[in-house]
Amino acid sequence: MILPGATLGLLGGGQLGRMFTVAARTLGYRVTVLDPDPLSPAAEFATGHLNTAYTHPVSLSELAQTCAAVTTEFENAPAEALVTLAEKTLVRPSGNAVAVAQDRSREKAFIASRGLPVGPYADVRDEADFASALERVKLPAILKTARFGYDGKGQATIASRDDLARLFAEWKRAPCVLEERLALDLEISVILARAADARVAVFPVAENRHANGILDLTIAPARIPAALAAEAADLAVRLANCLDYVGVLAVEMFVVGARLLVNEIAPRPHNSGHFTIDACRTSQFEQQVRVLCGLPLGDPTPHSPAVMVNLLGDIWGAGEPRWEAVLRHPGAHLHLYGKREARPARKMGHVTVCEATLERALEVAMAIRWDLGIAP
Ligand code: ADP
Ligand code: MG
Repeated sequence: MILPGATLGLLGGGQLGRMFTVAARTLGYRVTVLDPDPLSPAAEFATGHLNTAYTHPVSLSELAQTCAAVTTEFENAPAEALVTLAEKTLVRPSGNAVAVAQDRSREKAFIASRGLPVGPYADVRDEADFASALERVKLPAILKTARFGYDGKGQATIASRDDLARLFAEWKRAPCVLEERLALDLEISVILARAADARVAVFPVAENRHANGILDLTIAPARIPAALAAEAADLAVRLANCLDYVGVLAVEMFVVGARLLVNEIAPRPHNSGHFTIDACRTSQFEQQVRVLCGLPLGDPTPHSPAVMVNLLGDIWGAGEPRWEAVLRHPGAHLHLYGKREARPARKMGHVTVCEATLERALEVAMAIRWDLGIAP
């Protein structure tokens, strides 16, 4: 067990890292963040900031020497950096698990090979793959770059073979997956913490609404039958077991008819789990600290239903939003990530509304959205 007082290392210093850092500092740990951004949101709370590229050998060696354990807050931090660190210090999750999650093609192949459900898809690595991909995947479809996509970036709908050829060329022939565009009834996510001894704590299944490919709203618990929620939780746990995963894992799923399909996984806390900070006995970030340090897992049970509203840079159009519109609701919790520049579509913060009933939480969340100028 790594006890409070020790220093923890973090690859990536965005908002997820910021909330991890707050949880770790609260528990009495020191945190060193490695992030190339001098204005890293996590570095504001950290005890140290290595302000270089993720692969910088001097920074990696300093992290390895000074940190009792290292984790990551985003999957695009190179898995190789984690593998290098693992030679000298404890790394959770493993570079191998992160490598699977950071590549859509590997991710889908892994999930399918374990007999877990994914939608129809095909790899597109060069022009010779077009014909077979279009045979396996019905149009319209979505072409996604295998790596570096997030918040709907690196993906586009294609309606014809010509679209496919044009986009593939435009994206400089980067490896892609082609996915059938499914008629989604609902999107949900399951976030869990899995410890080194294989114990698992699963948060309530969350229902997610996206706008322009970016998470817009999370409703927890998801408004789905209990049996489907149990199936989703079971699916996520099986996936974590298959990966021999140690850390916090998020599994995004599509509900299509009565079926669940895994969309993608994230080897870290997830935007759709931010509600756990205010609504659960233990947050996803505290769980990340606990797993990293080998502490017993906390209790993920919710103390109330919750609705989380993402705050994107768009609402800064006319200057600083009127936070009074949030703060006047006693059940609303405002989280701002300390980012200096509010750009459209940039995640600037979120609000979590906790109320005695989900209906009431939704009502308050909708009132807040209206007041802040977010589309209903
Ligand atoms: P990202 O890494 O950007 O989150 P996702 O694969 O999760 O990428 O895609 C973002 C969103 O786009 C999804 O949450 C969903 O709303 C929509 N989407 C993605 N793939 C499909 C699909 N195959 N069919 C229908 N909608 C999809
Ligand atoms: Mg996603």
